[in-house]
Amino acid sequence: TLTDRLADTFKNLRGKGKLSPADVDGTVREIRRALLDADVALEVVKDFTGRVRERALGDEVNKALNPAQQVVQIVNEELVTILGGQQRRLEFAKQPPTIIMLAGLQGAGKTTLAGKLAKWLRSEGHTPVLVAADLQRPNAVTQLQVVGEQAGVPVFAPEPGNGTGDPVKVAKEAVKHAKSKQYDVVIVDTAGRLGVDAELMKQASNIRKAIDPDEVLFVIDAMIGQDAIQTARAFQEGVDFTGVVLSKLDGDARGGAALSVASVTGRPIMFASTGEGLDDFEQFHPDRMASRILDLGDILTLIEQAQKAFDEEEARKTAEKFATDSFTLEDFLAQMQQLKNMGSIKGMLGMLPGAKGMREQLDNFDESEITRTEAIIQSMTVQERRQPKVLNGSRRLRIAKGSGTTVTEVNALVNRFEQAAKMMKTVAKGGTPQIPGMGPI
Ligand code: GDP
Ligand code: MG
Repeated sequence: TLTDRLADTFKNLRGKGKLSPADVDGTVREIRRALLDADVALEVVKDFTGRVRERALGDEVNKALNPAQQVVQIVNEELVTILGGQQRRLEFAKQPPTIIMLAGLQGAGKTTLAGKLAKWLRSEGHTPVLVAADLQRPNAVTQLQVVGEQAGVPVFAPEPGNGTGDPVKVAKEAVKHAKSKQYDVVIVDTAGRLGVDAELMKQASNIRKAIDPDEVLFVIDAMIGQDAIQTARAFQEGVDFTGVVLSKLDGDARGGAALSVASVTGRPIMFASTGEGLDDFEQFHPDRMASRILDLGDILTLIEQAQKAFDEEEARKTAEKFATDSFTLEDFLAQMQQLKNMGSIKGMLGMLPGAKGMREQLDNFDESEITRTEAIIQSMTVQERRQPKVLNGSRRLRIAKGSGTTVTEVNALVNRFEQAAKMMKTVAKGGTPQIPGMGPI
């Protein structure tokens, strides 16, 4: 999957200290392949990798991140951009009712979405009405009525027995009805075909002209694959739309369709449908989707925090100290103080995939203890701080008294320090701990 392949790509980058142009090219090639495998359209892939390559090779220097992290960050930023940047909310009409029309292929999830939207809007204090303007399939009206009942929202439909009516007329009447009954949102469900179809496109376009909706949402099945581009283009030309809804994101969808559709049509993805139930629905957040595609846990959040609190120079010095055994209690204290800036240590480690072992080892690094640690270390002589080995029983007693703590606490601190130094030394020898106290990302 796209996710797995990108994760592999980044894994290969992690061990690197510096990236050469060849590294960047290799990585970009991998990203390109991963995106193509995930059915992202070729033109979108080209565009995307071109920008990533340019930025990765450019002199965008970020001192707090190692080069591999920088590539991850660039890829993430470009993904968010392609997915629409900022999350876009529904436009409501200044004069109610707000009219929302749904369009898309048959089976895309329009009718289901109509119910989800209605239920959500109702929970937000709106008074929506659903409109059955799919008069193509015999049971389409009934399906919408069932959905409306589940959502607790009324459905406007042609009289029974009148099932072959004109959807344009039904839509127009529905808007009139909404005005007279003071419904503030009108959600118009329309018909679709299995493939793109000129006649139905014309019908949808006519409905649009007749009711002049505030939003036209193009609903597309996230599993559609390479057909996404062609379908999206056809609907953009035939009906045009103001936003995209990705449905069936609960399945094995790889995000390829999302990337392609948003990029090719320039229309933002506004909602995601994630199941058959009416509550399986969410507002779409480009940044979260990008993370989902990257699938590196919340590693990007971690990188952002790291960026704030550290610079690479500092990290490298520390790594060197770990490796050469010249790490001291003074460094230990400085580090704990730095970590304090980064928020809860445990919280940080919680965001790091695969950091469970380290998390347990660092469980004792509680923020509330930092103040006490400071007191203990400040009660030590310079020699004691630099060579903790000299800390015998009488020195420990003196330090405990001086810092208002107990010998047990002093012992615990020294133990923790020794453990950390040992652990970090191992890590430092095997890899490149860029974030002190945490090891390599
Ligand atoms: P329409 O033809 O565009 O109106 O599509 P429907 O709303 O009738 O949905 C077609 C099928 O897909 C139905 O069986 C729905 O239950 C199912 N479906 C719709 N949205 C989702 C979704 O987000 N996830 C899953 N798993 N199934 C969905
Ligand atoms: Mg339908």
